[in-house]
Amino acid sequence: LRSMGSAEAHVEVSGRSVRISSPDKLLFPEAGVSKLDLATYYADLADAVFRGLADRPVALNRFPDGLGGGKSFYTKAAPKGMPDWAQTARVTFPSGRTGDEVCITEPATAVWTVQMGALELHPWPVRRADTDHPDELRIDLDPQPGTDFAEAVAVAGEAHALFEELGMRPFVKTSGGRGLHLLVRIEPRWTFVEARRAVIAFARELERRRPDRVTTSWWKEERGERIFIDFNQMARDRMTVAAYSPRARPEATVSMPVLWADLGDVEPGDFTVKTVPALVAAKGDADAEIDDVAHSLERLLEMADRDEKDR
Ligand code: ATP
Ligand code: MN
Ligand code: MN
Repeated sequence: LRSMGSAEAHVEVSGRSVRISSPDKLLFPEAGVSKLDLATYYADLADAVFRGLADRPVALNRFPDGLGGGKSFYTKAAPKGMPDWAQTARVTFPSGRTGDEVCITEPATAVWTVQMGALELHPWPVRRADTDHPDELRIDLDPQPGTDFAEAVAVAGEAHALFEELGMRPFVKTSGGRGLHLLVRIEPRWTFVEARRAVIAFARELERRRPDRVTTSWWKEERGERIFIDFNQMARDRMTVAAYSPRARPEATVSMPVLWADLGDVEPGDFTVKTVPALVAAKGDADAEIDDVAHSLERLLEMADRDEKDR
């Protein structure tokens, strides 16, 4: 909502009117995505965007002058000048220190992050009601030099099969970078330490099954031309980019949820701020059922007990 050349616009979303100053300022100059374009993207995809962010504390990767402006920083503490309706969540960092981060309690908050120059949204794997117990396992598949997205897709398929053996339902998305992220909703009953143990046990089992394709080695020189499962991602203050968030890359690629059946037919570059709205309109949100079930960690923690005894 605005008149041409005006100094500000208002984007209507979920009953709020979010002010966007300098609406024509280009956040992604090469892709031609302005502040108003990105705010409108979040508003148009409100349900899908909100699903991955709902009630989660988020870190904002901010570029006040856009991607072309050079300057950027991660904001963890809630910035000054938040609208009075925007909320925060208290989190505890690994040091024991606490802080209040922006919490996405409604779709309008995601739109407002654009006013802050945020190009990427990075939610914690917790919800505001209990920020000490993760409700999501995240498996970060990182292609190492000599491998690429196709190898990440193959390893994701192995991971999908293993989760199904464990009675768990994983969802997959492109990172918007080189690899993939798997997300599995869990009951928020276990600590970060336990969730990390579960991810390590899962990753080591995959490595045992496919030593040719998977590595969990912390030492880069031991990883080889394989997919590294970055289990250290599962910890306090370690975020994973949100589903449908753009990445701070010239093409404005998006971290895109994909149906398992379609994963073999996609490339990360297929999904950008420009292409994703039409794809979601045509095919729906591949994460639509992600909140239907929250799984137990018990079987993975038993696997971790056995794994640690064998070492
Ligand atoms: P790729 O598929 O290319 O690995 P990625 O988003 O998974 O892309 P990683 O380097 O594996 O990138 O990082 C995983 C996650 O860690 C990111 O999605 C992001 O949420 C978070 N992250 C990475 N770097 C930083 C940083 N400097 N500050 C805060 N969070 C970060
Ligand atoms: Mn990664
Ligand atoms: Mn990583």
